[in-house]
Amino acid sequence: MDTVIRLGVFVGMLLLMMAWEAYSPRRPLRYSRWQRWPINIGLSAITTVLLRFSIGGIAYFSAVLAAEMQFGLLNIVILPFVLSVVLALVLFDLAVYGQHLLLHRWPLLWRLHKVHHTDLDFDVTTAVRFHPVEIVLSLFYKVFVISLLGAPAIAVLIFELILSTSALFNHSNIAIPVAWDRRLRWLFVTPDMHRIHHSTAQGETDSNFGSSISLWDRLFSTYTPEPALGQTGMHIGLSQYQYSPAVTLKKLLLMPFRS
Ligand SMILES: [Zn+2]
Repeated sequence: MDTVIRLGVFVGMLLLMMAWEAYSPRRPLRYSRWQRWPINIGLSAITTVLLRFSIGGIAYFSAVLAAEMQFGLLNIVILPFVLSVVLALVLFDLAVYGQHLLLHRWPLLWRLHKVHHTDLDFDVTTAVRFHPVEIVLSLFYKVFVISLLGAPAIAVLIFELILSTSALFNHSNIAIPVAWDRRLRWLFVTPDMHRIHHSTAQGETDSNFGSSISLWDRLFSTYTPEPALGQTGMHIGLSQYQYSPAVTLKKLLLMPFRS
């Protein structure tokens, strides 16, 4: 059942953002969608199938197991249920911020994560452009965090929904009025905030790591409010990978393992 809900929310949000991008785009795309979308969606399809028939359910399972074994912070410190769910959600988001920082700072992890950053345009499909091995590793990391926190199983389900919905939202090429963007950014990561993280300028790539809550970047001084060249003038991607967007799936899958 939870797979149906997750898939339904994901596809609904994907289509909504695609429609919004078509109706009111933030920037003109440099390349045809047909050059990038099959690659991005192809990567996501491989990962989905891979996880569906292997370890896809272990995050939820680890929460159930931690509760049964009375393991982890929130299973030891007993709080009102709603409070422990909210606390777990906030701490999860902090953990994902930390993970994202590591993906950029640790060269071995960067080999995997750079696949995400080699997209030469920035739109909703960029949100699903990840190397399958990165997704598998992040699943193990999630299990580690869930066990340590003793997170309630329902918090794991809610967090998965928040994470995928906010990733689709904040990678979208949608025009949100600047005043609204400012208001939203007090708490949430907006597309204008996250796009800066996909800039070819190294200092900008190494900032705005947050996934849902914008607070962590301000708190840990990794926040860049605006790109130097402006939202419509900034370049997307990595300066050392400005090749054709029609790079093959095979090349991207092998990219982390090449010197
Ligand atoms: Zn990143």
